[in-house]
Amino acid sequence: MRDSIRTLRPMWAPALILAGTTLAVWLGPGLPASLSGLRTAAPYAMLAAGFAVAWWFNRGRAFVFLAALLAAYGGTQYALGFGDFAAQATYTLISVLVPFNLLLALVLAERGARHAGAAQWLLFLVAQAMLVFWIAAAGRSWLSGTVWQDLLGHWALRSPPTPLVGRIAFAAAFVASVWRSWPLQRPPDVGVAGALGAFFIASEFAGSPGAYGAFMTASGAILIVALLQESHRLAFRDELTGLPGRRALEERLHALGDSYAIAMVDVDHFKQFNDTHGHDTGDQVLRLVAARLAEVGGGGTAFRYGGEEFTVLFAGRTLGEAAPHLEAIRASIEHYRIALRGEDRPKKPEEGSKRRAGQSADKALSVTVSIGAAQPGKRLKTPAQVLKAADEALYRAKKAGRNRVAVLGA
Ligand code: GH3
Ligand code: MG
Ligand code: MG
Repeated sequence: MRDSIRTLRPMWAPALILAGTTLAVWLGPGLPASLSGLRTAAPYAMLAAGFAVAWWFNRGRAFVFLAALLAAYGGTQYALGFGDFAAQATYTLISVLVPFNLLLALVLAERGARHAGAAQWLLFLVAQAMLVFWIAAAGRSWLSGTVWQDLLGHWALRSPPTPLVGRIAFAAAFVASVWRSWPLQRPPDVGVAGALGAFFIASEFAGSPGAYGAFMTASGAILIVALLQESHRLAFRDELTGLPGRRALEERLHALGDSYAIAMVDVDHFKQFNDTHGHDTGDQVLRLVAARLAEVGGGGTAFRYGGEEFTVLFAGRTLGEAAPHLEAIRASIEHYRIALRGEDRPKKPEEGSKRRAGQSADKALSVTVSIGAAQPGKRLKTPAQVLKAADEALYRAKKAGRNRVAVLGA
């Protein structure tokens, strides 16, 4: 249950923004006349802000998507001044071109927003905008004949709502975005899928300026929130283990009440383990130890303190309450058999299965941890002092023979 809530976390923001926008469009009494300018300004402001954030955070896919959305919104607003055909042609073309650009960005590797390829992409978008302009101006000048008018009258291309070809393009881009973001854990990728959903709704309701603008705004907002979530995650989560990192611990230490316990956990003889099995295997073991620590009971939260050291914080608990849970986690790590992939693991899967069928190159290893814990008291007043005391207790656990829990002052 806890796992599925965690897995779904990146989806909350897009879902909430979409629900809020739907409610606002559906129930909203309509803006007072003095505020109606906001309806056109908001999408521009949100999409431009998103474009800037994507560039700043160096996120290539979001950058391309936001550039395309900004151009699409500007294009449709501009085309509305040129009669029905121009507007209809523009809606049709952007409903195909925006998903097409996103699809291309999703198929290509993420290379950030600050490289020559991204700048070239902006030129590519300008070229597409010129094509749209040329088609939308059909019949208005000697340069463009009326053939486009006949073609865009075809049922598969007529807009709004989204024409058939547009829906196909949307579906393809949506499948690609879900494929890229699978298992739906990284906020920017999930955000791209959510923003595409918002743009699809905008495109379906292109005939209603209020709904169109609102969902274009939602699309920008979803991407901005996803980019911010990702940068928060990078700052507060440890990449290797997925546990909250040192900075997250520091923040929690500042917000503690009077009663708490802190435990320091250190993997035993880990340097030797690395030397014997290699650094990559060592990393794999750190992930497994972290996964065990994350399951600590008694209201404890595990953090990666640094290297092969972890901290478990029990807010609102005494050391006496925390100790059995620390002992349980120590025992669970000791008894956990780590099935490691052999170091000389072959690259080709067929060879691997052949080898597994015969003599296995994989082996089961185990590691132990030493734990030191402390709580505030007369001598230990600040969380920093308690943490230092836990470290001293850890040192004692090591000296006493490792694979044990030592409690300071007990
Ligand atoms: P003990 O704690 O039992 O006294 O012995 P130890 O060998 O674990 O001692 P120490 O804490 O000095 O060694 C820590 C080693 O952990 C050093 C380094 O090789 C390894 N290490 C630290 N961070 C990482 C990491 O992120 N990945 C891997 N693979 N190894 C790491
Ligand atoms: Mg250490
Ligand atoms: Mg160690």
